[in-house]
Amino acid sequence: MLNFLIMAKAKIELIRGDITTLPVDVMVNAANSSLLGGGGVDGAIHRAAGPALLEECRTIGGCPAGEAVITGSGRLPCKKVIHTVGPVWQGGGQGEAALLASCYRKSLLLAAEAGLTSIAFPNISTGVYGYPKEEAANIAFKTVAGVLEETPVIKKVVFVCFDRENYGLYEKLMPSVTPG
Ligand code: ADP
Repeated sequence: MLNFLIMAKAKIELIRGDITTLPVDVMVNAANSSLLGGGGVDGAIHRAAGPALLEECRTIGGCPAGEAVITGSGRLPCKKVIHTVGPVWQGGGQGEAALLASCYRKSLLLAAEAGLTSIAFPNISTGVYGYPKEEAANIAFKTVAGVLEETPVIKKVVFVCFDRENYGLYEKLMPSVTPG
């Protein structure tokens, strides 16, 4: 267990900032189930990608919570975008934890299947969808570490924290690899 966590941590990076500027193969969008754009990170990704991304999303016709789909990236610096739909927090009794874990897991599996080796995640569901940030960070970290062990294709996972609270929570989860 310890060994595998150390190995996984070596592939995990933490950044505070805007996901749309990152030089990774694929960035993950915390989309809503329509896939037709929204606020928060979804809005930022669509604004930076331009209209081609929305056009492609329109043809997909939606995505349920816990699932993920892959598209092109328009004008973004990455090769692909993975759109995953996080759960809306409803108090924790509606399978939110399993759905959130599924978002991270399915996104990583899609990336690996497409041969994409570096991936950036926002803090899915912790904005408008209201997921408690500490629980969400624990699920994100644990799920990603577990999948990294199964899928050698992925060489780098970047957790992109937009707000200070999330950054602090992730920092605590990976003190051995985060400088300062
Ligand atoms: P959700 O509906 O899944 O909660 P939000 O976009 O409202 O999605 O929020 C998810 C997380 O994305 C929040 O922690 C928010 O601070 C963060 N976020 C917002 N804009 C950006 C951005 N440009 N890059 C990275 N993260 C962002």
